[in-house]
Amino acid sequence: MTDYRNFPMVPRVIFGRGCFSQVGEIIEEKRTSDTAPMIFLVDDVFGNNTNLVSRIPLKNNDKIIFINVDDEPKTKTVDKYRDDIVAEFAELPLGIIGVGGGSIMDYAKAVALMLTNPGSSADYQGWDLVENPAVYHVGVPTISGTGAEISRTTVLTGPVRKLGMNSDYTPFDQVILDPELTQGIDKNQWFFTGMDCFIHNVESLTGTYINAFSQSYGEKSMDLCREVFLEKEEFDEDAQDKLMMASFHGGMSIAYSQVGVAHAMSYGLGFLLGTHHGVGNCVVFDQLGEFYAEGVKEFKQMVVKHRIDIPQGICAGLSDKDFNTMIDVALSLEPLWENALGKNWKQIATREKLRSLYELM
Ligand code: NAD
Ligand code: ZN
Repeated sequence: MTDYRNFPMVPRVIFGRGCFSQVGEIIEEKRTSDTAPMIFLVDDVFGNNTNLVSRIPLKNNDKIIFINVDDEPKTKTVDKYRDDIVAEFAELPLGIIGVGGGSIMDYAKAVALMLTNPGSSADYQGWDLVENPAVYHVGVPTISGTGAEISRTTVLTGPVRKLGMNSDYTPFDQVILDPELTQGIDKNQWFFTGMDCFIHNVESLTGTYINAFSQSYGEKSMDLCREVFLEKEEFDEDAQDKLMMASFHGGMSIAYSQVGVAHAMSYGLGFLLGTHHGVGNCVVFDQLGEFYAEGVKEFKQMVVKHRIDIPQGICAGLSDKDFNTMIDVALSLEPLWENALGKNWKQIATREKLRSLYELM
């Protein structure tokens, strides 16, 4: 008998332009103490005096911690935020509210988990290693594409691997989807993060793990991506709304399937070179015509339409050891390869094949 996965979903979602204003009333029911704090982890791109930060409803001992995401989340940074919070407050926080992109979504999930689980977050990189439920955690995405708002993982770079804390306790208890917050993002960043969603869909829809559940979400997300990136001329309000929902649907699609070759190889780039997820995915996907012919063709049309420069030559000058490190990281992600290429994936995804692809990047 097939052993179907019974996976958790985010139980509460609010969507709409300006709905961030409701965050205070949403978290109010979790305020069971006047002394324990709500902690807001906020991308430091939103400085102290910005409109967004002035709308954060601080009460009692609540605190805003600004986080810089020039480097994507690391296990040791997550541990440090956890340690600082534990040192500063006598009581366990009532909640962790992350406001930012995928990096902040992952910080919020990981810190919430590490407040109730002992040791280092590096101990929990993998599948179903987390033992205790997290503290209440809320995600407020400010850029669309990663699907981290809905996913069951929190991607972290650790001492030996780049891998998420995948667990039933990882998903948010609440997400606040306010497309207005995605206004005014740098165009390249908008594209790279948006393409993460497009690539999730290609990898999910063409993978061997595909099923009607994933297909129904993936196809809707794909339609929305095409509308935003191929049909529209600007990132207007309608496009902001649609890309936010594309991200959500893309995340739902991979929740019950898997990503594929682009993500496996992008993790290699991220681990060795610190290449950000969205950029890395684009650098890799650009070279994957032999695996994803249709998707890569459409991707290249989107690149041209929006005049995006995909970084070139980022692997030039790397040593054999460097290439081997990236290949090790990429090949360790076995479910991704099996989804992309089937049970006999090892015959296709050889070390030589990966080396030749990395050399093109
Ligand atoms: P990000 O969070 O790394 O942010 C990218 C840049 O955009 C940053 O400079 C940030 O300051 C800026 N930014 C964010 N919102 C902005 C706004 N409204 N206005 C102006 N600037 C803004 O980018 P991302 O692509 O959303 O996330 C990538 C991260 O997500 C990676 O760490 C990746 O590993 C992770 N990820 C996680 C999952 C998951 O399921 N947990 C899935 C995919 C990716
Ligand atoms: Zn991704």
